[in-house]
Amino acid sequence: MAAGNPSSIHAAGRDARKILESARETVAGYCHARPADVIFTSGATEANALALHALGKGRPILIGATEHDSIRTAPGAITLPVRPDGTLAPETLEAALVAHPGALVALMAANNETGVLHDIEFAAKTCTAQGALLHIDAVQAIGRNNRDWLGMGATSISLSGHKFGGPMGAGALIIRQGIEIEALTKGGGQEQGRRGGTQALPAIAGLAAALGEPYEAGKIATFRDEIETFCINLGAIAAGSTAPRLPNTTNLALPGIRAETQLIALDMEGIAVSAGSACSSGKLAASHVLTAMGYGDLAGQAIRVSLPWNVTAEAVEKFTTAYAAMVKRALRKAEHSA
Ligand code: PLP
Repeated sequence: MAAGNPSSIHAAGRDARKILESARETVAGYCHARPADVIFTSGATEANALALHALGKGRPILIGATEHDSIRTAPGAITLPVRPDGTLAPETLEAALVAHPGALVALMAANNETGVLHDIEFAAKTCTAQGALLHIDAVQAIGRNNRDWLGMGATSISLSGHKFGGPMGAGALIIRQGIEIEALTKGGGQEQGRRGGTQALPAIAGLAAALGEPYEAGKIATFRDEIETFCINLGAIAAGSTAPRLPNTTNLALPGIRAETQLIALDMEGIAVSAGSACSSGKLAASHVLTAMGYGDLAGQAIRVSLPWNVTAEAVEKFTTAYAAMVKRALRKAEHSA
């Protein structure tokens, strides 16, 4: 790996620049964009912030209720409710665009807690027809459910390298050709003046290298379904399972058992799952995604299980064994306290 700064003009800098521009071409090719449309960032939180800042200026900002916090925290954003399966009803988007002309709509291609897919094709068509802009948070969909979102009419997409096997510390915002944007950080004018700050070259090179790694969606979905059926038979409720979903995600609510208790029990068996969102106290807050889907108390009793690309039958068995033991223990405890 070159040690130079891609903005320096000496030989090491020129070598670094070559690596940077080659990564840009790879990302552009993968996302059906031009290299000039790719803006490297530190990750998707920054890419989303840049999109909201640059595209949302002077426009109402409409967001889905299940968006990632990096979108949800946009000041003044108007939240669109989702249906119980986590999808956005077409009429909700249509009515919001009539009520808020010229809006910027920010939607995720796939949800990080449930894997539920938004109908981006419909959203893009509707936004284009209404003169609205559409930003897609494609973080979870890249590598698992790729689509040509820009070709569908989206204005921009964000991605994050560490979500598809690259290192942490690099992401990108990709903007449709011809749309000028103002930087959040002006700094030294890097990324054609659209994102100041020295690029994290090793992480960016890793991001580009990880794009396009093989992904056996069918095999992973079969394992996911096996886990889901097993857990449902033990009393779990799989949120969003009736909607179109990513192949690798299931969100399992277990009535009466706190998410934290489940997470710790599985962690003790060497299984890493997540739940809701950690707050500064270190305690888990109920999932805003499940709350938006109408799950009430169950939003604090759900874990999300993400199967890695290299999941095996042994790993599935390890999970189901640990899950069954956890449910058995919880039932015993409930009997004792009854
Ligand atoms: N958007 C979604 C849907 C995510 O799942 C995440 C991270 O988990 C982000 C945005 C933020 O990405 P990053 O960690 O690169 O800031």
